[in-house]
Amino acid sequence: MDKNKTLKKVKVINIYCNVCGRQIKAENGILKEDVFEATKEWGYFSNKDLETHKFNICETCYEEMISNFKIPVEVMNKKEVM
Ligand SMILES: [Zn+2]
Repeated sequence: MDKNKTLKKVKVINIYCNVCGRQIKAENGILKEDVFEATKEWGYFSNKDLETHKFNICETCYEEMISNFKIPVEVMNKKEVM
């Protein structure tokens, strides 16, 4: 399969939360809120070989998702690097 199809350059940012369907706020091409962006290239040992899955989750849905985790997410605080 030829993967080098013409990629459309989109200037307008239209990002939706895949969980709740809400549009993520953006102004002049800059996101005004943070989202969880996930991209997964499924490999040979999956049933989705060669598929790439991509989705966004808004912060509210993210909080809800991780609250169902048996093991909580690892949280690291970013340190200012000069
Ligand atoms: Zn959401």
